[in-house]
Amino acid sequence: MKPIHFSGAARLKAKPQDESNLAFGKIFTDHMFTMNYHIDKGWYDAQIVPYAPIELDPAAICLHYGQLIFEGMKAYRADDGRVLLFRPKSNMQRLNASGDRLCIPPVDVDFMVEAVAKLVSIDKDWIPKQEGTSLYIRPFIIATESSINLHPSESYMLMVILSPVGHVFSNGFSPIKIFVEDEYARAVEGGAGFAKCAGNYAATLAPQMKAHKAGYSQVLWLDGKQRKYVDEAGPMNVFFVVDGKVITPELNGSILSGITRDSVITMLRSWGVSVEERKVAISELADAAKAGKFDEAFGAGTAVVIAPIGELKWGDTIMRIGDGNVGAVTRRLYDNLTGIQCGSLPDDFGWTYEVH
Ligand SMILES: *Cc1c(COP(=O)(O)O)cnc(C)c1O
Repeated sequence: MKPIHFSGAARLKAKPQDESNLAFGKIFTDHMFTMNYHIDKGWYDAQIVPYAPIELDPAAICLHYGQLIFEGMKAYRADDGRVLLFRPKSNMQRLNASGDRLCIPPVDVDFMVEAVAKLVSIDKDWIPKQEGTSLYIRPFIIATESSINLHPSESYMLMVILSPVGHVFSNGFSPIKIFVEDEYARAVEGGAGFAKCAGNYAATLAPQMKAHKAGYSQVLWLDGKQRKYVDEAGPMNVFFVVDGKVITPELNGSILSGITRDSVITMLRSWGVSVEERKVAISELADAAKAGKFDEAFGAGTAVVIAPIGELKWGDTIMRIGDGNVGAVTRRLYDNLTGIQCGSLPDDFGWTYEVH
């Protein structure tokens, strides 16, 4: 791969003044990474250029058939000034796994980690410093060949854009209420649920609106066949503490294989806490709630990191979880994970990647 060409923005944008009020993903930094692909050339023309609109043929395949994949990762500013990425290689490997499902050609994982690091380094003054804030990194690949005849595109564009972010949920780190969706489905085994592909998310908008209308901030998805077993929630995987045991739905092809999920499981096991990865029936959770044994629930994902869940609504059943406060396991995971991500705790697992 050729070196990355850099052309800097002539004028830099004003950075957000109030870090305590960063909305999620609304503002973008001064630069972006772009790289093109053509079937005859492979990936070429890696560049970092001023953030700007792109030109796209109206017949570009991504616009019609959704041949588009993305990733989500973050850069954190440590107290000592270091800039840290969290498990960036895993994101690039997953980008390739998503691409494989959508006939999008793979990228060189190590090259892309370096490219992301270089872009973050150039725009590092945009990384907010306040607790709970970070620089969200969005790599994505779009199919650019102009054709409305459905087939795998012969050309692609990969971009990486950056956005300084605060907490995803407006209430910060306090328990959220989740609506268990038993009508719509997000994905089925054999579909593309494990891939971060655009269409998966567009199809969640209507159910998400339905949950919002009912006063809930997220949707909990059940399996696509029977609506019996828990899959995941919005942009996060889910964990439950029931009768003192940590359980989480097993990866079944319809669930997104979260890097935060994997980190949570690894951390818990390193503490000697066992984690059951298995099918979790929604009725099992309802029974536990009734018996007063539904101790904790939380979501895990890059955007939210760890999001405590205080209530699940499943039809007419309202499950109240724990005592309404953030539970001990949830709190310990949040503290340790954010501690490693922000460089204030030792990185025993080798998860952080320093940007120079
Ligand atoms: C990205 C995503 C997650 C979380 O994955 P992380 O790697 O932890 O960020 C979970 N579920 C869905 C549907 C996602 O898109």
